[in-house]
Amino acid sequence: NHPIYGRIEGPIVMIGFGSIGKGTWPLIERHFEYDADAFTVIEPDAGKANFLRQHKINHLQVALTPDNYREILGGIFAGGKGFCVNLSVDTSSLDLMKLCRELGVLYIDTVVEPWAGYYFDTTDNAARTNYALRQAVRNEKAAHPGGPTAVSCCGANPGMVSWFVKDALLTLAKDTGRAVAVLQDRSGWAALMQSLGVKGVHIAERDTQARRQPRPRDVFVNTWSVEGFIAEGFQPAELGWGTHETWFPENGHSYKTGCQSAIWLERPGAITRVHTWCPTPGPQFGFLVTHNEAISISDYYTVGAADAPEYRPTCHYAYHPCDDAVLSLHEMFGSGKQQKVHHILTEDEIVEGIDELGVLLYGHEKNALWYGSRLSNAETRDLAPFQNATGMQVTSAVLAGMVWALENPEAGIVETDEMDHARCLEVQRPYLGPVEAHYTDWTPLQDRWEHFPEDIDESDPWLFRNVLAS
Ligand code: NAD
Repeated sequence: NHPIYGRIEGPIVMIGFGSIGKGTWPLIERHFEYDADAFTVIEPDAGKANFLRQHKINHLQVALTPDNYREILGGIFAGGKGFCVNLSVDTSSLDLMKLCRELGVLYIDTVVEPWAGYYFDTTDNAARTNYALRQAVRNEKAAHPGGPTAVSCCGANPGMVSWFVKDALLTLAKDTGRAVAVLQDRSGWAALMQSLGVKGVHIAERDTQARRQPRPRDVFVNTWSVEGFIAEGFQPAELGWGTHETWFPENGHSYKTGCQSAIWLERPGAITRVHTWCPTPGPQFGFLVTHNEAISISDYYTVGAADAPEYRPTCHYAYHPCDDAVLSLHEMFGSGKQQKVHHILTEDEIVEGIDELGVLLYGHEKNALWYGSRLSNAETRDLAPFQNATGMQVTSAVLAGMVWALENPEAGIVETDEMDHARCLEVQRPYLGPVEAHYTDWTPLQDRWEHFPEDIDESDPWLFRNVLAS
């Protein structure tokens, strides 16, 4: 009993058939009409070939590179219509979306990904930031407004969490007795967040999915792309920097160009810990891994000028990956080298756990509100094939983004903050398990070990200085 959201005219190309591509394919099949003969997967890994053959999916076994992408995609999309679904690593999102728009083809991705080499080939940390990657996409949008829709960063996070922020704001408004008119534009949403007194947002996640077998040594285990996680984990920590902050980290850098909503730290995100909160564990450490949404949400909710804002929320990821991934990170950073063997936990081997992914809006009159999805792997198995709970939160956001793009085909380059969150969540919600709002009276100054002095400021519990773990 699955709704069909429309017909996709022309070819569909899926770039990358990893954990997310494999889980997105059945949702596309389920929810769109299209010409199955014109569905092609571009995937260099020979290990994926058999599955694709078994399921009669056209497979182009090649890696896209700066030298071949125009010819390959230009050939497939020569008819000037279709949909490009980019779910790969090591391909430039910006180059691919520019080409698709040139060709008149709809485009979606889940991250602003660069060509291979960007993350590791330089020691210039400022050049390895998500700020730089995102700003290049924003500059392209400003230079070429409108035209064929290209949805940037439409996974779970970045992606769905931006829709959750809006639902959470409306929930908080209702629960604090404010009447809210229907909000149409960015300035209305920013004014609402400001008027509610929200100081900042954690993208607060706890992944408790686990298999029975203990993690073997020298294997990086995760619930989604190991390559993707290592790459972002080695990027500098980055966060949207709010107007309530009174202190500036010694190893922090701000910007003089672009949206100026974020700062970066001279430290890899995956070993930068922050105090945060999720419903299942309560207080926990998360890793301040850089993510596009930290920058985009702080930018979207800015009131006033970019370089002298009247209001801006702090925003960052606070990620507790599955326990095996925590151990994998510990081993990797401790040894100074990446594990050669990578493993993504499949829905069949996971025996317990949920991915609890939400937004923690803090600093307002009700202290803090966590709003998000608490999807279990067990429930995921009943919802759709070929994915665990983490994957389902991502692939269903891709589905929602594709539906929105089909319904808004000339919207130009957009981020999820700029899309109709209600429509997108309407499409996505059947795949998210329980979506819940939880208030908490926890603050970063609570539940700490008090035996050692710490660099904190008790005048405001929600300062980043208190959130950052020493
Ligand atoms: P994965 O590592 O399982 O799969 C990536 C696939 O890309 C692999 O199969 C690989 O062979 C393929 N690939 C590598 N180089 C390529 C090239 N040059 N051309 C074409 N294909 C190439 O990763 P995944 O878990 O499926 O994640 C896919 C992407 O989605 C990653 O960029 C990841 O960061 C992103 N992601 C986003 C979110 C989100 O919530 N926004 C969540 C999970 C993953």
